[in-house]
Amino acid sequence: MYEQPSSYLSPKIQARPKANGNGNGIFAQQILTKGELLAVFGGVVYAWDSFVHLSEKERSLCIQVEENLFLVPRPIGDGDYVNHSCNPNAGLSGQIALVAMRDIRPGEEICFDYAMSDTAAYDEFECGCGAPNCRGSVTSCDWQLPEIQKRYAGYFAPHVQRRIDAQHKAERAAHRAEKYGYTGANARPNMLYD
Ligand SMILES: [Zn+2]
Repeated sequence: MYEQPSSYLSPKIQARPKANGNGNGIFAQQILTKGELLAVFGGVVYAWDSFVHLSEKERSLCIQVEENLFLVPRPIGDGDYVNHSCNPNAGLSGQIALVAMRDIRPGEEICFDYAMSDTAAYDEFECGCGAPNCRGSVTSCDWQLPEIQKRYAGYFAPHVQRRIDAQHKAERAAHRAEKYGYTGANARPNMLYD
């Protein structure tokens, strides 16, 4: 019996095996314009403790949606075969929607960068995406790289953006402490001008 997949994929996109035999991918069938909605992920939400006991296949197709929560597609659909690239053409809008970061031509594979969603070490791997700027390995710490934060501004999942904001706040506080000799929290405003 046909079961409705838990994810949505734009009708302008098709899932098919990759030419290099390296699993499935999703490919533009028509021109997609910057900002266009490409896919919406769905499924069952697992906390880390139960998520780690799932099969490797289910874990590899999931997306991290919060600090400790993982969305596992069930049933799996075409929209769940979105691969990683270090030079992606798509990014996240919120926790579960994928949008075009630039115009995409027919035939192009649609990829996002797992740094946009991953802060937990459940899917780290040596990367063979083939992009000129490939960073060689994909880890749960990649969101911390300044270049990544700059390039994907506006396309991170909310839990990653909160970490980035906290990191920048801590950096600014450390900078102030170094410059003015105080930590900021209880400082009088006029200390800034001393
Ligand atoms: Zn890569």
